[in-house]
Amino acid sequence: MTPAADLAQVRARVRAFTGECLAAGDFVPRCDAWVSGFDLAFSKALGEQGLVGVTWPAEFGGAGMSSTARLVITEELLRVGAPVAAHWIGERQIGPSILRFGSRELQAEFLPAIMASDVSFCLGMSETEAGSDLAAVRTTARRDGSGWRITGAKVWTTNAHHATHAYVLARTSRGELKHEGLTEFIVDLKAPGVTVRPILDLAGEHHFNEMLFDEVAVPDRWVIGEVGEGWAQVTGQLSFERGGSERFLSTYPLLAETLGHAHRCGDRATIEQVGALAARVTALRSLAWDIAVSIDNGVAPVADAAKLKYLGPAFERDVLTTARYALDVGGPSDDGTLERLIAEAQVAVPGMSIRGGVSEVLLTLVARSETRS
Ligand SMILES: Cc1cc2nc3c(=O)[nH]c(=O)nc-3n(C[C@H](O)[C@H](O)[C@H](O)COP(=O)(O)OP(=O)(O)OC[C@H]3O[C@@H](n4cnc5c(N)ncnc54)[C@H](O)[C@@H]3O)c2cc1C
Repeated sequence: MTPAADLAQVRARVRAFTGECLAAGDFVPRCDAWVSGFDLAFSKALGEQGLVGVTWPAEFGGAGMSSTARLVITEELLRVGAPVAAHWIGERQIGPSILRFGSRELQAEFLPAIMASDVSFCLGMSETEAGSDLAAVRTTARRDGSGWRITGAKVWTTNAHHATHAYVLARTSRGELKHEGLTEFIVDLKAPGVTVRPILDLAGEHHFNEMLFDEVAVPDRWVIGEVGEGWAQVTGQLSFERGGSERFLSTYPLLAETLGHAHRCGDRATIEQVGALAARVTALRSLAWDIAVSIDNGVAPVADAAKLKYLGPAFERDVLTTARYALDVGGPSDDGTLERLIAEAQVAVPGMSIRGGVSEVLLTLVARSETRS
């Protein structure tokens, strides 16, 4: 585990960097910036500071730090609503999967590139008939000489229109059970046969996409791990996807702004509500800390990550409710920041309990783990 003094130093480094960026006007804090704040220049600058992929080994350009150090970094970035989407998926879960299961060749090819934001990943898991029931994926990959050909369709792919590469879960054989015969691939989104089509959200904004693959050629070296072992591998990856502080800090800029607005208006009731939210965020941080420690101990914290992913969106929904209450009671803000952040959260909050796994499925995971223990 990284000593507390070193963690404080890491936190100070991130604060200094984001403080400089804010002072220079490089970004404006926003809600859900890890999804909607796609800024390649910011991610590249963060990488140059050595603050992307810190847990990865030095031989691939990482700093060999603990997951708790990474947690400190992500907390500080989310706290100020920094535009981190360009590297988020690659650093959070594709890099760790490559590190865990990929060949040395694959590690050398992609880990430094993710750190430098020379590549940017999106997640090709969901399909029209395979969301909560992810093992039902129908996208297929067939052997073709020394490589593979992928055919199928993925939906709800966040930021596929910005990404250079996609992680794709595809069926390489049919087993007796649907969880068998799945394999994880990396796909170049510029390859012939790839079509990325926008899906606009309710607000008319473009984050989602449909990705169509028509006999897309993928080299064998871009298989992550073992052919046919995709299910076992992806379930570990979901712990990385669900167990981070982005599951409850996406609206932190709004929480801070709400408190400021309430103070300026002398609105005691909102200040008390924010106090209750602050207590909850402390509990959620503690859970995220335990998850980071488990990852450092080599354990995939499936149940704890599911708990965090269940509790986080409920917390963020309550942040939005409190902010709207503050606006009702205190009246309009001087510069429109509170209203803007509320509008951003309003669009993001409904999807929070769906993306990364719906709440009902997460509760099932937790219940199953409790009955096993
Ligand atoms: C904002 C956002 C971003 C996303 N980004 C991505 C992305 O980048 N890549 C990607 O691959 N996917 C992405 N998704 C898709 C997401 O992972 C799926 O929407 C999610 O897994 C649910 O699948 P589904 O939409 O098919 O709903 P379904 O699985 O059809 O579920 C619909 C409803 O049925 C109920 N239900 C389903 N299964 C169960 C069960 N076992 N027990 C109890 N109730 C159940 C629940 O009420 C659930 O809400 C994103 C989704 C959102 C909202």
